[in-house]
Amino acid sequence: MMSQRLFGTNGVRGIVNEDMNVQLAMDLGKAIGTFMGGKVAIGSDPRTSADMFKSAVSCGLMSAGADVIDIGMVPTPVLQFHVKDNALSGGVMITASHNPPEFNGIKCVDSDGTEMPRHKEEQIEQIYFQRSFRSQDWRGVGTLQRSTGAVDPYLRSVKSLVDVKAIDRSGLEAVLDCANGAGSAATPQLLDDLGVRAVTLNSNPRGTFPGHHSEPVEEHLQDLISLVKASGADLGIAHDGDADRTIFIDDRGRYLYGDRTLAIVAEHMVKENGGGTVVTPVSSSMAVEDAVRRAGGEVVYTRVGAPVVARKMIEIGAVFGGEENGGLIFPRHQYCRDGAMTVAKLLEIIALEGPLSELADRVPQYCQDKRKLACPDDKKETVLRGLVEHYRGERVDTTDGVKILFEGGWTLVRPSGTEPLFRIYSEARTEGEAQKRSCECQSVLEDLLKD
Ligand code: MG
Repeated sequence: MMSQRLFGTNGVRGIVNEDMNVQLAMDLGKAIGTFMGGKVAIGSDPRTSADMFKSAVSCGLMSAGADVIDIGMVPTPVLQFHVKDNALSGGVMITASHNPPEFNGIKCVDSDGTEMPRHKEEQIEQIYFQRSFRSQDWRGVGTLQRSTGAVDPYLRSVKSLVDVKAIDRSGLEAVLDCANGAGSAATPQLLDDLGVRAVTLNSNPRGTFPGHHSEPVEEHLQDLISLVKASGADLGIAHDGDADRTIFIDDRGRYLYGDRTLAIVAEHMVKENGGGTVVTPVSSSMAVEDAVRRAGGEVVYTRVGAPVVARKMIEIGAVFGGEENGGLIFPRHQYCRDGAMTVAKLLEIIALEGPLSELADRVPQYCQDKRKLACPDDKKETVLRGLVEHYRGERVDTTDGVKILFEGGWTLVRPSGTEPLFRIYSEARTEGEAQKRSCECQSVLEDLLKD
């Protein structure tokens, strides 16, 4: 077992030249090169430190004998598609996704284009900590090749999976906000190719993210919302920093939470496939399951995290999957969160089924309550066991934390992985009901904590 850990849920991340420095990047590159060998693609988002880390990781990769293909500033799903499409041994993405510009990160992509599973990350960590790097002599060191054409095959594949004519005919107008991130490299082109007239906002790549913070939450998208309203556009589109996620604004200027989009697309995908299974984490809204069932499909729940969702989808042959944060996974394209694919599919759904506001209003409404409760790390496990015991006889799901299901809703208790606290989420038909459920659960937890 590894006592030291390098990769978090989103790869290795930190503040540039503080906890993330070039020495770490180069050694990690050596470890990744030792593990992957062969040909490895590398890409980045537009952060100011992108070239620095890309160079350091590339040096490490080459010293371990891997040949590096630098595909430039691209969305994460473009790198993933490139690895899969060219049968490379793997990929490395230099990005900190939605984190502020002073951060950067390193994320590994497996040879099939999926996010690297934990057990493989552990092997890379082991090489890193034991410094058991493969060090090639002068004949065996790798080469560096620059390739600028990765976006086109990716976009061609995206377009091959939607009804391009239907989108083109519908004359849709969109406002696009790429948060000055990696989406700027692909999504404006996609909209143009699909015949969607687009007004772009923050769609020039800038490593300082001058437009707004790159997490696409409502408070950061006020300019986009205003512009959708003022221009009478059919929708607003927003990506996070590395464009694996997409959030939408409807034609009435309403910010759509990711679970609404997830439900809309899930229902469509099940209909399109004449049934099938949709995979989503236990924290997703009941609205998703309602929409999927309405279309004749079923939902399988997993632990929280896109790689876990993707693995489950592969295992059971799901027709669709995704998370409530705007990360949607389309198996016919690739098994990873995919910002541009999400844009193309939602445009198709609007073209075929009507305005986004109407689609959003058809999604069942639920109310949520979120809160935290302090709990020392060493007590978390005992308290959770006590919670399961307390709700014995009820419907309890322990896929990730403890989820108690009741008529028309649920309460989920998850221990934080990084802080001494529990997160309590409840969902119900009304706000009062959701709060009541959270309160009840909180008092059970408080009693258990006293013991
Ligand atoms: Mg991201």
